[in-house]
Formats: sequence, C-alpha cells, structure tokens
Amino acid sequence: MQKVIVPIIIGDGVGPEVTSATMTIIDAALTKTYSDRKIEWLTVPAGQKAFDTLGTYMPDETLEAFTKYGLGLKGPLTTPVGGGIRSLNVYLRQNLDLYVCLRPVRWFKGVESPVKHPENVNMVVFRENTEDIYAGIEWESGTPEARKFYDFISGEMGVTKVRFPETSSYGVKPVSIEGTQRLVRAACKYAIENKLPSVTLVHKGNIMKYTEGGFRKWGYELASKEFGEDIESGKLVIKDLICDAFLQNALIKPEEYSVIATLNLNGDYISDMLAAQVGGIGIAPGANINYEKGLAIFEATHGTAPDIAGKNIVNPCSNLLSGVMMLEHMGWNDAAEVVYSALEKSFVEGYATNDLAKLMSNGKSLSTSDFVKHIIELL
Ligand code: NAD
Repeated sequence: MQKVIVPIIIGDGVGPEVTSATMTIIDAALTKTYSDRKIEWLTVPAGQKAFDTLGTYMPDETLEAFTKYGLGLKGPLTTPVGGGIRSLNVYLRQNLDLYVCLRPVRWFKGVESPVKHPENVNMVVFRENTEDIYAGIEWESGTPEARKFYDFISGEMGVTKVRFPETSSYGVKPVSIEGTQRLVRAACKYAIENKLPSVTLVHKGNIMKYTEGGFRKWGYELASKEFGEDIESGKLVIKDLICDAFLQNALIKPEEYSVIATLNLNGDYISDMLAAQVGGIGIAPGANINYEKGLAIFEATHGTAPDIAGKNIVNPCSNLLSGVMMLEHMGWNDAAEVVYSALEKSFVEGYATNDLAKLMSNGKSLSTSDFVKHIIELL
C-alpha cells in the first residue's frame, strides 16, 4: 500500500465543513480508483483555534509539517484583527517562499456562466507570489517615513514627478530576474508536461518599463535559454501581451490562451476575472507552490464565510477541487478524473449547493452533507 501523509489545516468558520467534505470525497475516490494508494490526513493547528489553545496563529510545528511532507491542504483562516501577523496566507507564502500561485480555470458543464462559450476558457494562471507591489513596502501619507522617502527620491534621485508630495502615500514595486525566471520556468515546464500549446507572459511593460518590462524581457530570455528546443520544434509557443489587451482578449477569444505567466497584481485580477467567466468564482481552486523545494499547499480561494458557518449550506467545491489539484500534483490523475466527472454529472443534473443551484435553470439545492453523499454515489 502506497500511503502518502498530507498535513491538513482544518480552518476557521466553514473550514471544518469544507475540509471534512474534501477528505470524505477524496478518500472515496481513491478507494474507487486504486487498491494500493491511500492518503493519511495529518491535522495540523493554525488560525483562531491554534491561537486560543497555543497562543499563536501559525505554530512552527505546522510549518515544519508542510516542509517535511512537501504537501498540504488548507481550509480558510480568519485574518487576525489588530497587530501580529497581517494575513496568515501571506505569512505562509512568504515564510515558505511559495513563489507560484497556481489557479487553473476550467468550466464544468451545467454551471451557469455570464459568457456565451465558457467551454472555450481553459487556462492555468501562474501568478508570481512573492514580489511586485504586494511585497508590502509602503509608507502612509503624512508619516515621517513617507516624508523621509520623498526627501530621498527628490533630493538624491532627482525625482520631480510626484504631483502632490506632501499628501502622497508611497509604495515600492520590486521585480527581480530570479523571481521572474523561476516563475516562468515553472509555467513552461507545466505547459510541456501537460502538453499545453503556449505560455503567454502578461505584463504592463509599456508603462512600467523596468519592472513589468523586465518581467517580459527576462521571461523570454529564460524560455529561449532553457526551452529553446521545445520552442524550435513547435511543442511550445511563448508569446506576450499587455495586461489590458489580455483582459479584452480573454473575453473575446479565450481559446488563444493556455498557460498564463504573470506578475502578482495582474495575476490577482486575472485569476478572478477568468474564474468569473466560467461561473466558478465561488468554486475556484488554488495552490501555492515552491517547485524548487518541492513544497505545495492547496487551498480554497474563498474565506471563512462566517455568515453561513455551521449551517450545512457551504459549497465545498473550492476546497475539494484544490484537493483534486493536489491529486494531479501527486500524479494520481485517475482519481482526480473520477471526481471531475462526478461533479460534472451532478451539475448537469442541476444538483448543487444553493449558491450554484439557484443560478441553474434546472437547479436542485442540496445541503453540504447531501451534496457530499450525492457526489460519492456518482464517483
Ligand atoms: P468570504 O469568502 O469568507 O465570504 C464572502 C461571501 O461569500 C459570504 O457571503 C460567504 O457566505 C460567501 N461564501 C464564501 N465561500 C462560500 C462557499 N464555499 N459556499 C457558499 N458561499 C460562500 O470573504 P470575507 O467575508 O471577506 O472574509 C471572511 C474571513 O475570511 C475574513 O477573516 C478574511 O480575512 C478571511 N479570508 C480568508 C481567506 C483564506 O484563508 N484563503 C481568503 C479570503 C478571506
């Protein structure tokens, strides 16, 4: 028996409901698909419960477990209010240097979408996770730090372009060669391994010439240096597009795009826009990955939904599909396929939790626990 240990953060709010649904369905899919593979779930503390019992939102033992096993699944966590860690998700990404935020976007038959042909949207977004304006280097208007920063850029760097220097807040946008290249390398490898036709570098290099323009330049350089043969043989196409044009084209001709490699802020907008196109903003899965260290944490993209916690109505699909991404990451693709097709069958018949069912013409609303039972019957 091949047994893989997966540390799991149960999460706050709806966390217990979505993670329990995920473990139940994944265990059933593995039993259905293989006689010799199994996951042993190892619950690790984090979030509000960890704070209440251990006095810390993210105990070291949790970080150590992820590092030791190289994998993890995470339910949503309450962002601590006032002081300490700004966001547990950002803390995890930075502490473990999870430099890729991976968001696959696909449509499930039966799910209502605002576009005419959601079946043409099939993309995988590689969003850089550690740099850009998200690095958190900023100073608030009116503080001595903002003043000092302005004095430096005006006095020492000759900057004269700040329109209202006295009342401006300031932010710094670091984008590096290494940060760009490890992201683009991961995107190219993913495209080749999954036989996907192209990688599109999405940037705003026409305006931010050295940061976003650097991303484009260093991305092309890396691709031609490390994937030159694949590009010459036509196995892989590398192209680029300015972000605003991409946002239009992704609506008008989404079939032209496959793997997207982009910077942190662009990636944030793009992931949610694409998820909305397939009607999946509430069920979109995600992962944060460091391919070099071999460490991947899979997570629901929604929050703790305190308004519906404990009511047995939460949609578990975002967490479940993140777990399914994990199966694919492990190479257990047959079990992943079994879950995908059960979900599609359920949606085509109109069976879903209320958030999705209420939008379907044939929608039949199920509680979370009945939805889990229904999916298990369809596996
Ligand atoms: P939220 O995603 O928790 O909820 C927004 C709305 O969407 C709510 O009305 C909620 O009921 C609904 N919703 C969310 N997930 C749903 C699901 N699976 N099924 C059905 N309905 C669903 O966002 P919020 O209210 O802004 O944040 C609540 C808390 O979660 C905050 O503490 C926030 O910091 C945290 N948060 C955590 C994560 C994370 O851990 N990845 C992400 C976002 C927000």
